[in-house]
This record gives sequence, C-alpha cells and structure tokens, in this order.
Amino acid sequence: MPWLRKLTRRAGPTPVPRSSAEAPPHITARVRYELFFGITSEIILFSDQRTLKILDANDAAARAYGYTRAEFQELSINDLRLPGTESIVARHVSDAGGVHGTMFETVHVRKDGTTFPVEVVARTAWVEGQRIIISAIRDVTQRLRAAHHAERLTEVWRLATDPAIDEESRLFAMLRAGAAGISAGGRYVARLSHVDGSDVVVDAVTPEPRGVEDAGPGARFPLAGSLEARVLGAHRSIGWSDESSSAIGVPVDVAEERYALTFCSDEPSGELFTAEDEAFVEILGGFFASRLSQARLRRQLVHQIGHDRLTSLPNRAGLRQAVHRAIDEDHACTLVVIDLDAFDAVNETLGHLVADAVLVEVGAAFAGELRPGEFVARLEGDTFGLLLPGNDRAATGERIAVWRALFEQPFGVGDREGRKTARITACFGVATSPDDGTTFEKVLTNATSALRAAKARGPGRIAYFDRELERLVSHRRVLRAELRDAIERDEFELFYQPTVALATLRITGAEALLRWNHPTRGLLAPDEFIPFAQQEGSIRDIDRWVAQRTVAQVAELRDAPAGFRCYFNLSARTMDDGEFVPWLADVRERHPAAEDKLGIEITENAAMLDFERTQGALSELRRLGIRVAIDDFGTGYSSLAYLKRFPIDVMKIDRSFIEGIERDATARALVETLLAIAAQFGCATVAEGVETAEQLEWLQRTTCTAVQGYHLARPMPFVAFSASLSNMMPADQRPRSDR
Ligand code: C2E
Ligand code: CA
Ligand code: CA
Repeated sequence: MPWLRKLTRRAGPTPVPRSSAEAPPHITARVRYELFFGITSEIILFSDQRTLKILDANDAAARAYGYTRAEFQELSINDLRLPGTESIVARHVSDAGGVHGTMFETVHVRKDGTTFPVEVVARTAWVEGQRIIISAIRDVTQRLRAAHHAERLTEVWRLATDPAIDEESRLFAMLRAGAAGISAGGRYVARLSHVDGSDVVVDAVTPEPRGVEDAGPGARFPLAGSLEARVLGAHRSIGWSDESSSAIGVPVDVAEERYALTFCSDEPSGELFTAEDEAFVEILGGFFASRLSQARLRRQLVHQIGHDRLTSLPNRAGLRQAVHRAIDEDHACTLVVIDLDAFDAVNETLGHLVADAVLVEVGAAFAGELRPGEFVARLEGDTFGLLLPGNDRAATGERIAVWRALFEQPFGVGDREGRKTARITACFGVATSPDDGTTFEKVLTNATSALRAAKARGPGRIAYFDRELERLVSHRRVLRAELRDAIERDEFELFYQPTVALATLRITGAEALLRWNHPTRGLLAPDEFIPFAQQEGSIRDIDRWVAQRTVAQVAELRDAPAGFRCYFNLSARTMDDGEFVPWLADVRERHPAAEDKLGIEITENAAMLDFERTQGALSELRRLGIRVAIDDFGTGYSSLAYLKRFPIDVMKIDRSFIEGIERDATARALVETLLAIAAQFGCATVAEGVETAEQLEWLQRTTCTAVQGYHLARPMPFVAFSASLSNMMPADQRPRSDR
C-alpha cells in the first residue's frame, strides 16, 4: 500500500514538523495510524479522489458494513450508496475542490443489502501527488430514531389533548397516528378491540385501504386474531415479525376491563420492532386508557349526576347545560333562584323525613307548573333554579307571580304517623343574561346575590339583581385597596423551595414563591390573591416586587453551590410589558453577585398570548444570561408546535402528572411522553410536586433532570433556605421545613 506509507509519512498537506520525528522510536507512524484507525468507533474510509476506489477501511467500517478490510479494497465508495442515487461524495468533493471538509447525510448499503442512515464528513488530502478522500462516517440510526420517536409522541399528545377534537374522531385519529408512527413504509391495520377481539372499538388502516374493507382486517391479516389473544394475556407490549407479516400490540386496562391495542402489517418487516417502538405502543396504550376512562366516566356522570336523586328534578349540572344552551344560541334568558324560607325550622319541627318529603312535593309542584322553554332544577338543599326564556321584566314578573302563588297553599305530606301539612314561603332572586352575565356561573352568582337582598327584606320577597347592589356587597374593593397597600406596607415575603438534581439528590436551585402577610387574615398563599391581582392589573407591580426581591436575596446567598439558579414566576401581563426586561437588566446590574443565578418561570398559556412579543422578550432574557422555564408544562393545549420556536431551557412538569405515577401506568406514560418531548426541545426537566419516596424513585429511573416537592422540602422563608444551603446534606437527611 504505497499511498499509506506516504500518508503516514506526511499526514496531510503540511509537512510534519521536525520535532515529531523525535517521538519514541517504538511508536512508529504506522503503529500510531493503526492505533487510531483501529480504535476509533467512527467509520473511516480512505479512497482515491479520481477513481473513488476504496484504499483502506477501519474495523469500525468492517463491523458496520459487513465487508472485511480486504474486501473493501475491491470496492469503490459508490458501492456503498443506495443503487440509483447520485454519488454525493464525488459531487461534494469535486465541488469543494480541495482540502475543505464537507458534510452530508445519506443512506448506505451493507454487504447483506440492508441499509442504514449515515452522516458523512469528507475531506481531501494531497499525499505525494495522489489526492485522497478521507471519509468519517457515523451511523445515525439511533439519532434519527430518537427524533422520530419524539415527533410521533408529540403528535399523539396533541391528538390526545386538543379540546377541539370530539371524542370519537379522537380515538380514530390517535389510532391512525399510532399506525403511522410504527409503520416503516408498510401498510398497517390498527385496531382497538375489547376483551376477546370480537368487539372492535376502533379500526384504522393506514395508508388508505385498497378495496379490502369488506374482508375485514382480521381476514386480511391472519396474525391479527392470534395477536389479540396474546396481547390480552400479556402484561406489556409484545411484537414479532416473520416472512410475511409483522405485528405489535399492548393490553389497555380501563377499570376492570381489558382492551387490546394492536398493529398488524401484511408486509414482511425485515427488522424487529425497536425498543422505541415498544415504548411508543405502551405510551399510546396509556393515552387510550386515559381517554377511554374519561369517556366512560363522562357517560356515568351523565347518568348519575344529571338528575337529583331526591326530587328527580334535573340538578345544577342540568341547569348549567340548559342555561348555556340558551347563551350559545344567543337567546336572552332569566335565571330565578328560589330558596325556601326558614326551612331549618321545618327540618327541626317535622324531622328530616318529612322535610325531604316537602322538598319532593315542592319539586313536583314546580315541575307541574313548567311551560315550554322553561326549565327547573334543584340546586342544593332547599334551593331551586328556574330558567325562563327572555329577559323582559314584565313577563318575568308575571311568571314569578304564578310560581309564588304555589306557596299560598300548605304543602301536605304523608308518612306513617299520618298526614302533616307545612306552610312555607320562598324568596326569589332574579338575574338575566346577557345583561347580568354570559356564563352560567356569573348569572347564578348574580341571581344568588339578588336572593340575599330579597332574604334581607324578609320572607316571601323578590329581588332583581342590579349592578349597584353588586358593587356594594362585593369585597373586591377592599381587597383591591389592601393589595395596593401591601407593597408599601412591606407585607409581601418570598418563600424559597429548593429543586434537587435527580442524579445527586443535591440542591441545584430554587423557586421563589410569594406569600402575603395579611394584617388580619394571616399568611396568604398566592392562589388567594394572584388571580385577583391579575384581573385588577396590580400584578405588574407585584411581579416587579418579586423580581427585585429575588435578585437582591439571591445576591446575598453566600453558600449557593456551583450552577445554582433561582427562578421566579412572571405572569402573562408582565411578559407583555415591553419595559420589563430592560428594567430587570437594570436591577440585575445593581446586584452583580446574582448575575448568573437567575431564571424566570412562565406558564405555557402566558407564552401563547402574544407570540412575537414573548419570543422577543425570552430571547432578550436569555441574552442577559437569565434562564427561561415553562411552568405547569403539559396542562396547556396544543401549543407544542409554538413552543418549539421559543428559546426555553427548562420544562417543569405539572404536579397533576406526578400525582398518579405510583399506581397508574397511564400517568407514568404521560410523564414519559412529556420527558421525551422535552428532550426533543433540548430542555432540562423539573418534576413538580414530588410528595413520596416512590415517586422520587420512579423519576430517578427516567431522564428527568430535577425534582421539586414536599418530599424533598417545602417552601421556606429566606433565612431558613439560606441556612439550608450552608449545611447542605443529602436530601434524605435534611430537616424538613414547613410553610
Ligand atoms: P407554581 O408556579 O406551580 O408553584 C408551585 C406550587 O406548588 C407552589 O404553591 C408550591 O408551594 C406548591 N408545591 C410544591 N411542592 C409541592 C408538593 O409536593 N405538593 C403540593 N401539593 N404542592 C407543592 P404556591 O406557593 O401556593 O403557589 C401557587 C401558584 O401561585 C404558583 O404555582 C404560581 O403559579 C403562583 N405564584 C407563586 N408565586 C408567584 C409570584 O411571585 N408571581 C406570580 N405571578 N405568581 C406566583
Ligand atoms: Ca412556578
Ligand atoms: Ca408549576
């Protein structure tokens, strides 16, 4: 191999400097070459630039392609590419025309005819008059597989959660996406079947069937029947393939019932299913389980809770539906809340049984009085709701007079001791839609506050809701004023909750959580005032206070471990405020000790408000070295495609997903999906709300980066947090602090 001697004497275009000739004599250039060439796991080929004949190949190449090194020397690099495709190497190299490297992706063929995707880095080198192509080749099967896996999971996630998809098309769409996800080009029949395979829930063929529908998938795919039987007896996914077909399936358990989710192909699949395929099918099974149990739950709910057991009248949920039907159809309507007066006294003097019987009688009287378009429901206890069409005050007044007249006669009830009568009265509170609200809750709240006003005037009274009244009874004003003063009076405080790395169980960061030391109501959690502040607009001031205090306190942390980051929460409104980021940059500049220790958390939904603006703000924050975390990840809707375009460092997986992972395979599948999606985005992950050792142990077996939760530490005042950093111990020995 004369070219090799030349190459090893003069490695590349530049002459080897003198000093390297003084290397220890026993490590010759040849040995060095063989060592490197043989040891590296990268595939390396040398070929002639003119003829493309392969001059030498290393052991990694022999392993990857199945040729011996001697056989390689009979081949040209064109023999490695897929027949019929253009020689990219030759084009690239002659285009580049010289020693500069070129990089491209293509598909190569092994000796046995199978193919694999590769990434090729090629460059040329002059070796004493001969131009040689050096190609470093990497098998990218794994990388492509991981990307494909995350992509198909993302799609299934979208289909499983998008509220715009109705339940039946959802199952079908998920099934198709599942089949598309595992079919490597072949045609697949996918089906979800019940118990013995005879009861098919959904069926999908992908791609579109070629006139085989009537034969049924079972007839066309002989494997299907036996697969279902095997799947129903399995405890996780199973798959196999032979010369004529391939199949994979997973059992899906919903309550006490078992379904089989199966994918059968009528085409031979050369390769067995990968571990990713099995994981994918299992996760898909988890999605189906959660969808099916929700659909089942909903059916049960409609039966059980649609009606009130005692009076057989529709209940609150039923009234809610009726009101929303009117609102959706743009019909004005009137909601009357009717509450019996002094019903406690009936209970006490006549006993519960009689009181219940009175309620039944009242309900029956109401139902007997209904006209078309009217709807009555028992809301709770002795409170009823009446829906009247239209919002004309006079017409409403007439109808209410009729209903009120029902109470002029005593209600008689019979029981074992004989017949008793009860004279009762009722108060009426009235609100209308759209004037007094455009949701059931709003209209009901207002009708109820009118009812309170009626009650205040005495038994048997009627009151109509009016805005003035609302303003008087509402405590919002007070809260608004108190919130405004809270910053000035220094009533806010930040608690810190550590985040702990899963690999080391050591503190890697913290989240700053707001508390309000309210002068009369004690320590308030943010849920009690943040939503209000968000409506009122004072949230911007609060968020700035939080940011400022976090930066200042983080700067004071003397014992923060390397890489420590403290995150604080920002609301959507603040993200919309163009002046916030420059303001924050300024604050941070005044506290250099906090410089590389900061991060912000925003929720998915906040990020969605104004895409361009948020993207700009987040990029700017990152430029400042402030990390960005997406909060409550997985609870927003179908925003994944957008999220891909945001610069995000960390994804925080919402507590609602972590809750079920000990007992529930579905919950685990969901978390794994979220982790795979995060990996696709290149993000670190924090699991929120870890409350038990079992949850922690399970998470340690996943790719999740860090955890946060009561099991590790509760949010604590700054002083306690700072002290806990000073005497850092492994998480399981650290004393727990309470809120
Ligand atoms: P979040 O951002 O999801 O914060 C995590 C919440 O989960 C905190 O509640 C924390 O105390 C709680 N938590 C942590 N570990 C566990 C656990 O193991 N089990 C359970 N059950 N809960 C756990 P917190 O402090 O009440 O905050 C509630 C929400 O209020 C936060 O949810 C966040 O959305 C908001 N918030 C808190 N501080 C701020 C702030 O400074 N600014 C803004 N805009 N929002 C804030
Ligand atoms: Ca948060
Ligand atoms: Ca959260």
